[in-house]
Amino acid sequence: MSESTVLKFGGTSVADAGALQRVAGVVQRAHRSTRPIVVVSALAGVTDALLAAADAAASGDAERIRLQLDALLERHAEIAGRLARPENARGIRTVLERTRAEIADLLQRVAAEPERRPALRDELAAYGERLSAALLTAVLLATDVPARYVDARHCLITDGTHGRATPILPDTEQRTRAELAPLLDRRLVPVLGGYIGATLEGVTTTLGRGGSDYSAALVGAALGAREIQIWTDVSGVLTADPRVVPGAGTIPRLSYAEAAELAYFGAKVLHPKTIQPAMERDIPVRICNSKAPAHPGTMVTARGELRAGAVKAIAHKSGITVLQVGSTRMLGAYGFLRGLFEVFERHQTVVDVVTTSEVSVSLTVDDARSLPDIVAELEPLGTVAVESGRAIVCVVGEGLRTTPGIAARVFATISDINVSLISQGASRVNLTFVVDEDRVQEAVLRLHDALFEREPADLDAAAATGAP
Ligand code: ADP
Ligand code: ASP
Ligand code: MG
Repeated sequence: MSESTVLKFGGTSVADAGALQRVAGVVQRAHRSTRPIVVVSALAGVTDALLAAADAAASGDAERIRLQLDALLERHAEIAGRLARPENARGIRTVLERTRAEIADLLQRVAAEPERRPALRDELAAYGERLSAALLTAVLLATDVPARYVDARHCLITDGTHGRATPILPDTEQRTRAELAPLLDRRLVPVLGGYIGATLEGVTTTLGRGGSDYSAALVGAALGAREIQIWTDVSGVLTADPRVVPGAGTIPRLSYAEAAELAYFGAKVLHPKTIQPAMERDIPVRICNSKAPAHPGTMVTARGELRAGAVKAIAHKSGITVLQVGSTRMLGAYGFLRGLFEVFERHQTVVDVVTTSEVSVSLTVDDARSLPDIVAELEPLGTVAVESGRAIVCVVGEGLRTTPGIAARVFATISDINVSLISQGASRVNLTFVVDEDRVQEAVLRLHDALFEREPADLDAAAATGAP
């Protein structure tokens, strides 16, 4: 199925009738030259509203946000009424009525069965993608694209970790092929929701927020697709987060390693796990703008751009906690680091950045939910200091490790901002460090100005003088 292409559309790409019409145009054009498989997110705001309803129900207050959720659900029927053929619009209306009743029932169960809340939350969240996929199928049929709704839970098989399930790859590959290949052979266009999956027993799961990109990559890898296209609301991966740096520009080409680092360290445009399945099968990933379909966007491949040593982008991630564990017993003691990391493993907490000296280890965590327990278990190993309200900044580019002068440029630019942890060299493509959360935007803006908007001659001068 190497002639197939996965097209994934995010929530803003299907926010309203105009957006859905543009998506239909993109799929129609793709259908002329390849065999498209469409993966779609919930309509903008719907996942938030479903999860908020679950939380409200858990605290016995589901009525409070019922109206807001109802209005968002109604949008599916309104859009179908405008864009789908009458019989398909009626079909969407029927699905919606059934969904409303099922959601009301699930919300009652959230209140009544506290021990089943994680599973019920996933069940509720999954309606977002199930509805958007049904709606997009109806809209595509009206533009003469032979679309077929596919329940993604029959394709993406995962473990039972609700809220952040891990795919079981052999089953996912086998089921995805079994579900989609017969449709592709008949030149039909499968449409499935991203983000959702099911266990082998058929219990609904989700891959974590923003997980539709990951779904698209998994489907693409399972089918050995020619390309995985991530259609979003910006023209590709930009040199920085455009919400912080309005002048950020499109990066035409990235290597898998560069894209993975950017996604991992905060570039929301790609879910952190998206690159892995594509890289394993050597499938190009293209990030495109559904509002500007003619823009070439960003192409991510194994080789990226051959020009090594250039800074490609700056990513950042707030809400980080730094832990510093000091111990004189570490001197010459083997097994210390293993003991330390076992604590994080027991609490299923991912460590992002690590630096060590002979007497202390500093590390960062994003998910601080288990922090009190982790700290309690670390204390027998040494003194533990916790610094919350930190942010990671990650400067990315192939060959940065071996390019002289980059670190000097970076730190000269933000010399008046306190940097608490630096990691370079762990990967060949990044320079990562930690700053105070309330100065991260300023740091990113200044770095972007220095690394992308000023002439290289200015950069050399800044590095030499230490001037920002
Ligand atoms: P979708 O709904 O299509 O999945 P997301 O909101 O998840 O879209 O991701 C796209 C958004 O990611 C952009 O609108 C932008 O605000 C944000 N973003 C953060 N960093 C970057 C970056 N380096 N390049 C592009 N977009 C970025
Ligand atoms: N709809 C899900 C979310 O909002 C998944 C996604 O959009 O990728 O997190
Ligand atoms: Mg997204």
